[in-house]
Amino acid sequence: MSFDPELAHLGVYDARAPRYTSYPTAVHFHTDVGAEFSMSQIRALPVDKPVSIYVHIPFCERLCWFCACRTQGTKNKSAIAHYLNVLLREIEMVRAALPAGITIGKIHWGGGTPTILSPDQIRLLSLALQKMAPRHENFEFSVEIDPTLVSAAKINALAEMGMTRASIGVQDFDPNVQAAIGRKQSIETTLACVKMLRRANIHSLNMDILYGLPHQTVETVNATIDTVLGLSPDRIALYGYAHVPWMAKRQKLIPDDALPSGQNRRELFDVMAAKLESAHYAPIGIDHFAKADDAMHIAAKAGKLRRNFQGYTTDDLDTLIGLGASAISKFPNGFAQNAAKSADYAEAISKGKLATYRGIATTQRDRMIARLIEMIMCDFRADFAALANEYACEMTILAKPILQLQRDFGRYIKFSVDGFEIIHHQRALARIIARRFDVYSDDVENRFSSVS
Ligand code: SF4
Repeated sequence: MSFDPELAHLGVYDARAPRYTSYPTAVHFHTDVGAEFSMSQIRALPVDKPVSIYVHIPFCERLCWFCACRTQGTKNKSAIAHYLNVLLREIEMVRAALPAGITIGKIHWGGGTPTILSPDQIRLLSLALQKMAPRHENFEFSVEIDPTLVSAAKINALAEMGMTRASIGVQDFDPNVQAAIGRKQSIETTLACVKMLRRANIHSLNMDILYGLPHQTVETVNATIDTVLGLSPDRIALYGYAHVPWMAKRQKLIPDDALPSGQNRRELFDVMAAKLESAHYAPIGIDHFAKADDAMHIAAKAGKLRRNFQGYTTDDLDTLIGLGASAISKFPNGFAQNAAKSADYAEAISKGKLATYRGIATTQRDRMIARLIEMIMCDFRADFAALANEYACEMTILAKPILQLQRDFGRYIKFSVDGFEIIHHQRALARIIARRFDVYSDDVENRFSSVS
């Protein structure tokens, strides 16, 4: 993303915008949406379309300072066992409500640290999920793995239960950077984890790396990328660190003055991206890279890349049922989020009700704009003809933002009768352009991360 003075003048590099892993974004969820909404959505799911399942395990043994995920630090095995029992009860409630004949296309375990579960707990949870509904023929099962909290027995249990993809958190291998973000993880530990996964025949690996961390330099990020390339993951997510200590309290432990400036962040991303591309990883969307034969690259080339709460995905299923504390469900007609605190979540489930505490019911116009934003974030283009075909709703709402885009970013976007394509500085502009179509967008700017 080479520097452009005109974009700098327009404030693009300093702008903050949602990452648009959903539309409307979660800041617009409200408490009018509760358990009744979720239950009615689950009961009405069409049986001819498989559903995805997300399972949230909120516990971590270590609490990394940079992390803004919903996590709870614990080494208390009985707290984890209690949570698992609640989760099993929630799974049974959803199973009982699912229409007969529905299948499960994908399951993802995230957190937190799913590998905090013991091998027996992994089997118990997986078997309960298997009983919910039969697996679709193209079934995938992915799990977020913490290399510092995993063992061959846990990986073997996951493989036995059908795990097809592992996502490994790396962030950065430099010891100074790791010390500044409160996350120690040696190269040897990560390598041992990769070897265990390969031995268990899990060959589809994703690695998460961060740029914009304290003390990162061109030299340190080059070294991290070299090590990551040596581990040969299929996909790499290269996320910008979002420093929002007013929202994620642990980030107060990270010294502001050790963070790279906006211009340095761009330089770090460019260096890492160039290195990945020269190693034949194709850029995908704003922050992913994948090998040529990886399903994500194939989906992106075919215009079938999608975006959900986990970021970019090949999951094109309309429904994602979120299970566990703070998990978000995406239904055909809206979003619903479970109570964020484990105690509140457990209390709701103990009363025999789903734990939904907020969400939003969407209109056809919302769903049309959601798809438009997804096109911009995934393909850097908009296809109005396809939108008009798929969503029978009023499109005049798009006229004003289109005129504004022509005025502000005319030389970066190619317009046609049927849509537009971002032709320059796609990464910098995608979230800003997407936001122009966001009718919920308001003054909550400081909740969002920098676009560069
Ligand atoms: S980065 Fe992973 S291990 Fe660290 S606090 Fe976040 S979820 Fe837990």
